[in-house]
Amino acid sequence: MKTYRKELTFRVPTRRGIINITSQVQDAIDQSGIREGLVLINPMHITASVFINDHESGLHSDYERWLEKLAPEKPYSQYAHNGYEDNADAHLKRTIMGRESVCAVTNGQLDFGTWEQIFYFEFDGKRNKRVLVKIIGE
Ligand code: ZN
Repeated sequence: MKTYRKELTFRVPTRRGIINITSQVQDAIDQSGIREGLVLINPMHITASVFINDHESGLHSDYERWLEKLAPEKPYSQYAHNGYEDNADAHLKRTIMGRESVCAVTNGQLDFGTWEQIFYFEFDGKRNKRVLVKIIGE
């Protein structure tokens, strides 16, 4: 079995944002030389998510509004976590959207359904964040 590890770095200029990282994950698969296996993609931070869904701007706006209803950013004072930090909402949003995604690799390609794409979802941006890509297979 072969393994391959790569870190991607993102700096979202706003507090929240969604980036399509599908092509970067496919690039990592290409670099790995692995043709059959699994790829794991996870943020190395606790205020961001990696998720798989549709590349559709209306849906991405819906995520933003839905998450703001569940865990509004402000007022900061509503959260016990906020003292030195102001990012309690970002931790909660990440919990809702999940940590990682795992995809099958078949014949050297992401083995996706028609509309599946991989996204990085930042909840506490304006700084560098890392995403781990780990591929196992042969
Ligand atoms: Zn925090």
